[in-house]
Amino acid sequence: MPLLFASVARGEAAQANTVIPKLARYLLILTLLTIGLLTPWVPVGAAERIQILTATARSEFPARITFTLTAEAQASEIVAAQLLYGATRQNVLSVVDVPLTPGRRIEARHVLDTQVYYYPPGTAMSYRWVLRDASGAEVTTPRAEVIHHDERFPWAERTERNVTVLWYEGGAAFGETLIGAATAALDRMAAALGAELEQPVRIYVYASSADLRTALQANSVDWVGGQAFTDLGIIVGAIAPGDVAEVGRLIPHELAHQVLAQLADNPYGEPPPWFDEGLAMYAQTRPDPWVEEQLDEAAREGRLIPLEALAASFPADTDQALLSYAQSQAVVEYIIATYGAEKLRALALAFAAATPPDQALQTVLGRSVDELDAEWRVTLPPQERTVAPTPVPQTAPADRFAEPPIGLPDAAEAPSGGSPFAGVAAPALVVGVLFCGAAVLAVGVVALLLVWRAGAARRG
Ligand SMILES: [Zn+2]
Repeated sequence: MPLLFASVARGEAAQANTVIPKLARYLLILTLLTIGLLTPWVPVGAAERIQILTATARSEFPARITFTLTAEAQASEIVAAQLLYGATRQNVLSVVDVPLTPGRRIEARHVLDTQVYYYPPGTAMSYRWVLRDASGAEVTTPRAEVIHHDERFPWAERTERNVTVLWYEGGAAFGETLIGAATAALDRMAAALGAELEQPVRIYVYASSADLRTALQANSVDWVGGQAFTDLGIIVGAIAPGDVAEVGRLIPHELAHQVLAQLADNPYGEPPPWFDEGLAMYAQTRPDPWVEEQLDEAAREGRLIPLEALAASFPADTDQALLSYAQSQAVVEYIIATYGAEKLRALALAFAAATPPDQALQTVLGRSVDELDAEWRVTLPPQERTVAPTPVPQTAPADRFAEPPIGLPDAAEAPSGGSPFAGVAAPALVVGVLFCGAAVLAVGVVALLLVWRAGAARRG
C-alpha cells in the first residue's frame, strides 16, 4: 500500500469541490478493493516495531474535526504519518500527509476544517492512520469512527423503521408530530414503490432558519429551507415547532428522495429528475399550493416543458424550475392513477438497473417519453394562445439555488408575462423545493480516494 498512499497524498486541498463521477467512483472502489485483497495492510513485524499509543478524533460541529495520534517505534524512527478519513457511508477516503518531527515517539495532529470541507450534522466519519518508520515498516491503525454531531443544541430523538428525527424545541409533542409524519411518509412510499428504507436516515430539524444556516455550508444562501444528502442518509431542515404545514411538506418530500435513492442505487446512473422530484412532491401530505396554478397557466399559454427535457436536468430559471417541479408531480400522479402503483415500482426498478428513461417507459408502460408526455397533456386545459419565446437566462441567479444548474431543457421558454412568484415571494416559494435533488453533489467529496475494504465489499 505505500505506493498507493504516496500517489494520493495531498489530495485534501482539492477536496471540497471535486466530485468523482459515479461510475468512476465505483470503478475506483473495485480497483482498490482488488488491490486491498492482494496487499496485506500490515507488513510482517511492523506491528511490533510501531506501537500506537492513542488515536482519537474530536468533532466540534460545525467548525472542525481534530484527529490526534501518538505512537512509539522500537527499532527505528517514525518518519511519516498519513491520515485517511471520509464519510463512512460514502466508502471513499481522503488521504492527507500529516507533518511530524521524526523520532522514536511521535505526535501527529490534523485539524479538518469542516467549514471548508463541509459535512452535514450527524455524518459518521471513518478514519485510520498509516505510519512508516525509517526502515520502511508500516502500520495501519484499525478503522475508527467519529460522529460529526451538532452538539450546540439539546437534541431529543425518536426512531422508527430506520428513520430518526432529531429536534430541540417544541417538546415531546413536536417530536410525535415529526416521527408521525415520517412514518406516514414511509407508508406512502411503501404503497407507491413497495420499498422501505434499507439504511438508516437521520433528519435534523432546526427550530429556525437562522439556526439552520449555522449548520449548512458557509456559503449557503439565506432562504435555503433545508438540504438532503442522500448518500449520507442525512436530511437537515428548518421547521418551527407547530408548523404542521412545513412538517407535511419537508419530511415526506425528503424521505421520498432517500427511499428512492436507496432503492435505485446503482453505479451507472440515477432516475430522471422528473421521476425523483415528482415522487417526492407526490409524497408530500401538504402539497405545494402553486403547483396546479403553474400547470394550468403553462398549459393554456403553451409553454409546458417537454418531459424529455426534464429527464436530464431542471432549468436554471426560477419560474421554469417551479414549472418543472409541478410537471414532475403531475406526471408521477398520472402514472399512478392511469397505470397503477405497481408500474411506478417497475419503473423505479428499471432505473435501478440503469435502464435509460425512454427504454424504461417503453418496457414498463409501452409508451415512449413523448407518448407519455402527450397523453398526460390531454388531462390539462387546452392551449389558448401562443407565447413568443423569450431568452432564458443561462445561469441561475446566484442567490436562488442551493446548487448550480447543470443545464437547460431544449425547448425551455421563459414566460412573457409577470410571474405569480415574482419579487420577494419567489425565494420563499422555492424554499424547500429546490434544496434537494442532487444536493449530495454539494457535499465535499474527495479528490483522491481510498476505500475501506469492508465498505467496498458491502457495496460491491
Ligand atoms: Zn426534491
